[in-house]
Amino acid sequence: MSSNQSTALSSTGQRPSASTERTSLSERKSINRREDKHEQMDVDVQPEPSAPLQVRRPTGTYRLSDFIIQRTLGTGSFGRVHLVRSKHNLRFYAIKVLSKEKIVRMKQVSHTQNEQRMLMAVQHPFIINLWGSFQDSANLYMVMDFVPGGELFTLLRRSNRFPDPVAKFYAAEVALALNYMHELDIIYRDLKPENILLNFDGHIKIADFGFAKHCSMNAWTLCGTPDYLAPEIIRNERYNKSVDWYALGVLIFEMLSGLPPFHEPEASHVVLYEKICAGPLAIRWPAFDRNATDLILKFLEHDPTKRYGNLKHGAGDVFAHPWFREVDWAKLKNREITAPYLPKIASAGDASAFERYPEDNVAAGYGQPVKDEFGTMFPDFEYTSH
Ligand code: AMP
Repeated sequence: MSSNQSTALSSTGQRPSASTERTSLSERKSINRREDKHEQMDVDVQPEPSAPLQVRRPTGTYRLSDFIIQRTLGTGSFGRVHLVRSKHNLRFYAIKVLSKEKIVRMKQVSHTQNEQRMLMAVQHPFIINLWGSFQDSANLYMVMDFVPGGELFTLLRRSNRFPDPVAKFYAAEVALALNYMHELDIIYRDLKPENILLNFDGHIKIADFGFAKHCSMNAWTLCGTPDYLAPEIIRNERYNKSVDWYALGVLIFEMLSGLPPFHEPEASHVVLYEKICAGPLAIRWPAFDRNATDLILKFLEHDPTKRYGNLKHGAGDVFAHPWFREVDWAKLKNREITAPYLPKIASAGDASAFERYPEDNVAAGYGQPVKDEFGTMFPDFEYTSH
């Protein structure tokens, strides 16, 4: 765990201004002994025999000049996400802008292509909606719905912890979204409160498909976020969709207690990984509801072949677990269950739920012609004139 993360979790209780401080592994440069290998491992994955992903809906053609760029909503290692307003329909959107040069330098080309392809393939009430994507000489652009309620992470840090029914509500919506992705043979691989956004009506939208992968068999790329890594990822073994169910166990624990189960404020990643590999016995268990504890333990099961969500009945076991007894899954999916927290949104385009980031006038640089060295590496991003 980075010192930045420990600061965020232990002293201020809030996320530091850079949203990548609690970083996903592939974005880090000095994370652990296997860091130099993880891109190579990505290349090593055998071609999966699964059917190709279908694009779920027609995609629009967009260009930078269609939008007025407003404030920054979040930043990442290769770019940032802006609130934008369409000049045509005056609606607000979020555009993720990624520098091609940085993506190539940090060896994230395949992850970026995956992100775009996965988002084009999914259409679900609890997953972010991608309208289209394009590129110019310097950057890639992804046009998404603006999700105004901010990150679940921010709400959780402000609340310290969630009461059992609140944690259950978010966990149940996440479970539906994971099951949907898994049915499409997509492993999400980066579940954490930072990547769960809240819509205007308080329902979730899972964002950031940077590590999502279409994969019916096994993967073994080292990626994710340290606190949320399943032991088989740490042990450098092949893994499957069940790493997402493991991460849901971590998420439920974090929502109920305020901290992830293996969290050590001052510990290095090595210590954190040792604790994860030691398993749930290493956890100091707060007094959770008995059924919540039981479900978390079933998700944190070390042996993926015995892990809930990955057994004979798949996600059916999760939906039928006693902790979720009162959940009406059909109503939940139709967003007919009232969310426990309604974001305070003054008007369309109100981004006050998001932290402020230094703007540094970066948007002024978008669309400027530069030498285009990497365009052919991103064939799914259309060139549109501006
Ligand atoms: P990402 O790089 O996809 O993790 O995005 C970085 C941050 O930007 C996220 O953690 C959110 O705070 C924000 N963000 C991303 N996509 C959206 C969106 N569609 N609507 C609002 N905020 C977003």
